[in-house]
Amino acid sequence: MQNKAPRGTSDILPDEQAYWEYIRKQAASICHLYGYQKIDTPIFEETSLFTRGVGKETEVVQKQMYTLEDEGGTSITLRPEGTAPVCRSYIEHGMRNLSQPVKLYYIAPTFRYERPQAGRYRQHWQFGFEAIGENNPSLDAEIIEMVWQFYKALGLNNLSLKLNCIGCKLCRPSFLDALKQYYSQYTDQLCPDCKNRLTRNPLRLLDCKNPTCQQLSQNAPKSTDHLCEECSTHFEQLKQHLNLLEIPFKSDTRLVRGLDYYTKTVFELQPSEEGSQSAIGGGGRYDGLIEELGGQPTPAIGFATGIERIILNLKRDNITIPSFPGIQVYVAHMGEEAKLKAIKLTAELRHNGIATVASLGSRSLKAQMRQANTFNVAYTVIIGEDELKNNTVMLKDMSSGQQSTVSRTELISLLISHLSL
Ligand code: AMP
Repeated sequence: MQNKAPRGTSDILPDEQAYWEYIRKQAASICHLYGYQKIDTPIFEETSLFTRGVGKETEVVQKQMYTLEDEGGTSITLRPEGTAPVCRSYIEHGMRNLSQPVKLYYIAPTFRYERPQAGRYRQHWQFGFEAIGENNPSLDAEIIEMVWQFYKALGLNNLSLKLNCIGCKLCRPSFLDALKQYYSQYTDQLCPDCKNRLTRNPLRLLDCKNPTCQQLSQNAPKSTDHLCEECSTHFEQLKQHLNLLEIPFKSDTRLVRGLDYYTKTVFELQPSEEGSQSAIGGGGRYDGLIEELGGQPTPAIGFATGIERIILNLKRDNITIPSFPGIQVYVAHMGEEAKLKAIKLTAELRHNGIATVASLGSRSLKAQMRQANTFNVAYTVIIGEDELKNNTVMLKDMSSGQQSTVSRTELISLLISHLSL
């Protein structure tokens, strides 16, 4: 039996790599513009970081974590999301002594045991960023504007931005009570998951994808009717700032997020054209998380987007991305003696910055020329008996098909000039 990549995972083959490089570059560039520095945290953490941070009753913790006990008896979990590890690192390295907010970003593989489908995998990559140590709504607006500019720079201009405020630990309980009261009238209509959510995680009743539950959510209580004064002012100011920055958003009182740590602002970006339910990215405030993880009370906000989902959207929108520079020169030979010269010349070309491939086997000249074509090179250099004798090479311009004899000593400077290096 042949092994395959585990279900819900895939190889990123060379043909796909240009997309990844493009997104990584745009991510690094936007982070530089907005003052974010890169952080890498381990692929796995102590399990308790996620049970405390993400929340015991969340789907991620209940059903999706890759958890194992290591040889030392410690329970560890493959990162199911990026925020809790960054916060752990912020606390562990005393970053509260740095100038606040501390702005960090990561690009990291993330693991969730999900039912695989298009855009939903068991290993996916997230680009995320966190701004820790500032509670002003102008930071929320700055982050949302940054997200907007990031997608715009990638060429994704058809996204819609949804925004909501889900309150804080002071005002949330009254909203949760209202939700429970409302939904308990309809328990017989709720899907099995939502029946469970009603007692364990009522906020998530609002974003269930089951059609009946969605129907019920239309008339459900709104978080914005239960906000305390501070949350309400925060939300109003955020909207003002977004208007100032000319970021189009839609308030959506049913928008909640999958992880427990969110407070006040939550937002999501969705591809608008397909009525899709799968967000391309989302984020929000998590003013209580650092304290929950053992740090000082510290407000914070962050965002994450899935790289595979970005690629799906780039392809769907037919956005052309810069391709990788290809091989420039192919070196072909005829005969064993010529092969030695070809090997030496190939090394020399590479040392001069010319991307070169040589035929290393003993295939015919015709087969070598076919291979040169598959590499789509600009020039092929051919060394045969005559060339050996005269210390020359045959240089073939692959686009015009023209061949000329060139002295071996002039070849490199000629290629450098032809290839505009
Ligand atoms: P979340 O942490 O759930 O807010 O996810 C942030 C972003 O990561 C989402 O908006 C998606 O783009 C992406 N994402 C989340 N889960 C998956 C998954 N299982 N497969 C692929 N991408 C995902």
